Amino acid sequence: MSQASIIDGKAFAARLREKIATSVALLKKDHGLTPALAVVLVGEDPASQVYVNAKGKQTEEAGMESITHRLSPDTPELELLELIESLNSDPKINGILVQLPLPEQIDETKVIDTIDPEKDVDGFHTINVGRLWVGQVAPVPCTPYGCLLMLKDTIGDLTGKRALVLGRSNIVGKPMAALLLAEHCTVTIAHSRTKDLQARCLEADILVAAVGRPQMVPGDWIKPGATVIDVGINRIDAPEKGVNEDGTPKTRLVGDVNFDEAVKVAGAITPVPGGVGPMTIANLLRNTVIAACRQNGLDDPDL
Ligand code: NDP
Repeated sequence: MSQASIIDGKAFAARLREKIATSVALLKKDHGLTPALAVVLVGEDPASQVYVNAKGKQTEEAGMESITHRLSPDTPELELLELIESLNSDPKINGILVQLPLPEQIDETKVIDTIDPEKDVDGFHTINVGRLWVGQVAPVPCTPYGCLLMLKDTIGDLTGKRALVLGRSNIVGKPMAALLLAEHCTVTIAHSRTKDLQARCLEADILVAAVGRPQMVPGDWIKPGATVIDVGINRIDAPEKGVNEDGTPKTRLVGDVNFDEAVKVAGAITPVPGGVGPMTIANLLRNTVIAACRQNGLDDPDL
């Protein structure tokens, strides 16, 4: 039986980061411009801390300036909104990212919609969501854009392909659907109320899984030869790896797709880890460079 080709997101992201670093070096040399990204973290969520540290490190490695604001978990909403306003009006800051999720005393939508849409490098502001759907220039959410880049690299022209997006969140599922539609795919968005999910999946030339349920998509939901993009990041117990000092089992990361089954059916597939994940931060850097160019009246770099 033939095996799917593995889409190497890690290598893809490394190439993208190299291009970004070159572009940043040129901006510095030709225009004296150093793109700057401000990341705001509220609270001490361990996963969020890992993401924020990685974002800061990779921003600096690309030659850009990284500013991280760490706020306590009980920060009042008003204090966060005032910080965002000050970053909005700071001409040295080109991109602003507020790490989600936020503590429950803070209204996420209000926070996102307080960010200047031109500095909204996550592409989550209501104005940018609208721009994406009507086909206007806008910062594009980092994870779905990473998926799109890998799909185009794997398949080429996506016109007329049947695409199934599993999940309808504002940060992955919906923008993914908008991007695939803009590439002239025939798009179905499935979710927890979708009837006959297996049949819908089996119709898809492109299957993007973003549900957050470990290994939910089995091999027999996949159309032979389809391209499968697995966005899910789920930590599960891995007793085969042994136990930690406190006696709890070691863990491992898996996606929303049963990789071992899917790899025997699909034409190409992203692994977890090493697929979609690395592309997300690379696209955050890309969005920051593009935002810096637009704010300074320069053409978008070719990234
Ligand atoms: P959300 O929880 O916001 O959305 C999950 C979606 O999946 C919802 O639309 C939900 O449907 C749907 N869903 C849940 N259960 C089922 C089911 N049994 N059948 C069909 N649909 C179902 O998740 P996110 O979009 O934020 O994230 C999805 C996954 O992607 C997570 O594992 C997350 O960790 C990962 N992720 C990875 C990133 C990366 O960089 N690689 C970045 C962002 C997320 P409904 O709307 O009906 O409730």
